[in-house]
Amino acid sequence: MTEEIAKIRIFHSGDLIIGTELPLNEENSHYLSNVMRLQIGDNVSVFNGVDGEFLCRIKNSSKKQVIAEVLKQTQPFKDVPDIWLLFAPVKKDKTDFIIEKAVELGVKKILPIITARTIVEKVKIERYQAQAKEAAEQCRRLEIPDILPEQKLEKLLSNWPQERRLFFMDESLQGKNVAQVFAEEKGKPSAILVGPEGGFTTEEMQNLRQHPSVCSVSLGPRILRAETAVAAALSVWQAIDGDWK
Ligand code: SAM
Repeated sequence: MTEEIAKIRIFHSGDLIIGTELPLNEENSHYLSNVMRLQIGDNVSVFNGVDGEFLCRIKNSSKKQVIAEVLKQTQPFKDVPDIWLLFAPVKKDKTDFIIEKAVELGVKKILPIITARTIVEKVKIERYQAQAKEAAEQCRRLEIPDILPEQKLEKLLSNWPQERRLFFMDESLQGKNVAQVFAEEKGKPSAILVGPEGGFTTEEMQNLRQHPSVCSVSLGPRILRAETAVAAALSVWQAIDGDWK
């Protein structure tokens, strides 16, 4: 990484125009001045999810607001592959892990799914979004995945976009070999579905298997924790049909 790409990165929701001043919002200003203790003249990399990444320099800094100057573009925008993650929220720290790994593993969209055995009462979308922002800044993504409001599995299946393959991680060990399925379905818009700690009910599995856009997939002979299944399935997909190729 050349010295032009500053180590500290932040997501800024707004235009990034070379030669202009960039007033940062309160959250980013607090992070840069009070947490990272950046001074006037220090560099920071800024991305906005649309135009790529820019080298910026702190121009002035008060407790409430930091203003930077946009110096140059250091990376053009590049999107992630078209893979969605659908997951049934599990315990808080494990869900934090799922969000963080999904961002690092390049998902484009995250959809929390409520299934019969999902144990979480309140789905904290804002928490997920904060997790996703932090993970995207850390792993040098150029955008932050959309996190959609939670949906019930039945409703999701009834409105599922026909052209998108839905790879259902089937813990009943009846699924097809994951590498084989991903290779056979290469090049199509895709989504991976992982169930809750208690797994899918028999009825849910039947509904999934009958759905025309769904492929039932096995992740091998052992029963994985939901967070392990998310990381494993996304890793195999990225290696076969994503941007790890
Ligand atoms: N309670 C379930 C059981 O004992 O069979 C296990 C559920 S597992 C903790 C959570 C989710 O991870 C499952 O719903 C499934 O989507 C995925 N998963 C776990 N192991 C898997 C495997 N070997 N193959 C496919 N998916 C798996």
